[in-house]
Amino acid sequence: MRIGIGYDVHRLVAGRSLILGGVRIPSEVGLDGHSDADVLTHALIDALLGAAALGDIGAHFPDTDEVWRGADSIELMRAVMDLPEMALWRIGNVDATVIMERPRLRPHIEAIQTRLAEALGVDPGHVSVKATTHERLGPLGREEGAAAHAACILFPREA
Ligand code: MG
Repeated sequence: MRIGIGYDVHRLVAGRSLILGGVRIPSEVGLDGHSDADVLTHALIDALLGAAALGDIGAHFPDTDEVWRGADSIELMRAVMDLPEMALWRIGNVDATVIMERPRLRPHIEAIQTRLAEALGVDPGHVSVKATTHERLGPLGREEGAAAHAACILFPREA
């Protein structure tokens, strides 16, 4: 089996939508970035790519490329799952933690897990998303941004 980890961080700004795991979360501020800045999905993409030793999200979807401006990160994750090299693997499980002070994510966790499971083509029971705050410490604690950690296990597909 293969293990992968991913990490991402994006700034929180006014005038942007907050999208996490492909789900739009009601919020006064949103994540800033070249794509939809879905920090959770970005961390998950890097975990998947890492487990398969296929580089990182920046190598596959450069933020200098206009093609990816405003991109739906769920579509980027689907594109990763469609890579020929990924056909060798099946996902055992994925686990992720989102770190942000506000808004509280608990009411949205189930929707996020369902959306990610559907995009990954796995049972929702194989997708775990957790949320925590940064206890008011540092830039994340001052609500300047949000971060996400992700991990995944891949098993070889039976021939
Ligand atoms: Mg990112």
